[in-house]
Amino acid sequence: MVYYWLKNSLISLLPQPCLLCGDLDHQEADSALCSPCLADLPVLGETCLRCANPLESRFERLEGFLEESPLLQIRHCGQCLKNKPYFDHSLAFFPYAHPFDYFIHAIKFRSKLAIASLLGQLMAQQISNTASLLDELPDGLLPVPLHPSRQRERGYNQSLELARPIAKLLKIPLLNDLAQRTKATPPQSSLSLRQRKQNLKDAFIINYSVKDRHIAIIDDVMTTGTTVNALAKKLKQAGARRISVWCLCRAEPPS
Ligand SMILES: [Zn+2]
Ligand SMILES: [Zn+2]
Repeated sequence: MVYYWLKNSLISLLPQPCLLCGDLDHQEADSALCSPCLADLPVLGETCLRCANPLESRFERLEGFLEESPLLQIRHCGQCLKNKPYFDHSLAFFPYAHPFDYFIHAIKFRSKLAIASLLGQLMAQQISNTASLLDELPDGLLPVPLHPSRQRERGYNQSLELARPIAKLLKIPLLNDLAQRTKATPPQSSLSLRQRKQNLKDAFIINYSVKDRHIAIIDDVMTTGTTVNALAKKLKQAGARRISVWCLCRAEPPS
């Protein structure tokens, strides 16, 4: 049922070829992807309860997941047992591998917002499948803020575009004004773990109290978790009771 809603909600005014295979024939609704490519997307297997680090290297296919399969989480990874992050729980949906590396690039640098909307809807669908296993749904969603200079350059925040369909489907308030990024930082991928941490020290400010609230941070790609951890720390200082992280893609952190 929700699958049909998902498909039908992807209708746009002009037909667009599938972003992956260029096909127009299987575009039942003119979405960013055709039905066969959508069904074939890789989905993460078991991930760590706290940081969503992949605990198995085998991927499932999206086809079997759209209707009801929840995300699988039963244990913590070694990293989290050794060094507990400020966030309490994470959900990640897809591996940061082909074609998601290509999608993220298309969203960030080629303004392909239709794919961000589709991926946000897939995240929302999987959260709703998993909702009965979660202790509670968050009180608000916070997309990881971009520094104003980067936001001006890009014209939008990709995490906000992912968060919109989730807020709509799960009826959770979008708190886009809750945090600001005050430091313009170089891309995290070019830095060592130590540099990442230093780079993100006091990079965020929280604009109002979130006392006793449960906030879910929405991110596009989580690698070491340093960015969301820096934001989670500030949110806990602003009174948050619980922090979840919902990220589109999880890359395996460098060992
Ligand atoms: Zn296709
Ligand atoms: Zn972990």
